[in-house]
Amino acid sequence: MSGKHIVVIGAGYAGLAAATRIGRRDRVTLIAPETRFQHRVRQHEAAAGRPEHRPTIADVLRGRQVTHRQARVTELDLEARKLHLDDGGAPIAYDTLVYALGSRTAGRDVPGAAEHAYSAERAAELRERIAQAPAPGTVAVVGGGATGIELATELAEAHPDWQVRIVSADRVGGWFSPRGRAHVLAVLARLGVRVDEHARVTSVSADGLRTDTGRIPADLVVWAASMEPHPLAAEAGLAVTPDGRARVDGHLRSLSHPEVHVVGDAAAVEVPGVGPLRMGCVTALPMGQYVGRLLSGRTTRPFDFRFLLQCLSLGRGEALVQFVRPDDSMRSAVLTGALGRLTKALIVRAVISGLR
Ligand SMILES: Cc1cc2nc3c(=O)[nH]c(=O)nc-3n(C[C@H](O)[C@H](O)[C@H](O)COP(=O)(O)OP(=O)(O)OC[C@H]3O[C@@H](n4cnc5c(N)ncnc54)[C@H](O)[C@@H]3O)c2cc1C
Repeated sequence: MSGKHIVVIGAGYAGLAAATRIGRRDRVTLIAPETRFQHRVRQHEAAAGRPEHRPTIADVLRGRQVTHRQARVTELDLEARKLHLDDGGAPIAYDTLVYALGSRTAGRDVPGAAEHAYSAERAAELRERIAQAPAPGTVAVVGGGATGIELATELAEAHPDWQVRIVSADRVGGWFSPRGRAHVLAVLARLGVRVDEHARVTSVSADGLRTDTGRIPADLVVWAASMEPHPLAAEAGLAVTPDGRARVDGHLRSLSHPEVHVVGDAAAVEVPGVGPLRMGCVTALPMGQYVGRLLSGRTTRPFDFRFLLQCLSLGRGEALVQFVRPDDSMRSAVLTGALGRLTKALIVRAVISGLR
């Protein structure tokens, strides 16, 4: 052991992948409020009432020198190198901090969204509301990005008696190749999902939403417009980009506080020859694995990454695997049908193995 105290905050893809690797040698404390891994890329399945397969954090950490303190960080004191927690215990000191607090659904400052719309983080409440509704109604999913499409298709397939609508300020799945987007639209149509594009939501109320092109009545509204990083990095005074992601060097160290490594959605990472990395499990997991290897002395090289594909589940019966260039720009090749579904399922399963 190095004798240093390494503290990892956040037990998502990035935080857990880092903690398990560092915990082979050093004394590590992991701080996160949950006992079971969140597996956010499956939250749309949970919202639709599908069974959840999520390991406990204790399972993931088995055999590692990692203590899990089940708490939420309320304050990060970068000068004193201390964290204040909400569990009533003493603040915790660190020599090295791995900051992995991830992101959350953004855009809920639209009037009424915070009160009346469900986000992926509230998947369990949404599932209950649909199950307890006296009669089938309309559910409007706001956001034509990956999360919105996955939520809309999953809900439409699981609840064929409900009318599902997807409402988007841009084109739904507009960043995919023409073949990829055509497949998304075909599956949405097959599942009976009504698509409202170029409609920016301006307010949400108990009986639907208002857009800049008119009103859309809905019994339930699901908000999946975009993601924003956890605010603690900016609040604590780490150097951040205008959107609140921590600025890091090639070894994923904070530019302002090199004793802090930032991984996952919380980090603004630019890879030479690739460009800025987008938020995603696809980038969070390798960043966590990398910092784990770096802090346990198994690499000294800068972080490197290349994109290969993007994948999307479209209900249980369909999927889209879109091949991309190393910089995440679209190729024309896609996988759909059984092959696409199988590839997506294998990738999601591999993510859990990658945590360990
Ligand atoms: C429905 C859905 C589908 C998605 N599908 C895909 C996909 O197919 N491919 C893809 O690449 N990405 C996908 N994403 C995005 C992906 O889930 C995120 O990019 C990913 O979770 C980021 O990982 P992370 O480890 O950085 O943070 P997170 O997974 O957000 O984990 C953050 C951790 O920090 C903890 N935390 C938060 N606040 C505190 C605090 N104050 N104190 C202590 N701990 C705290 C949380 O409890 C959690 O443990 C999807 C997201 C959603 C919602």
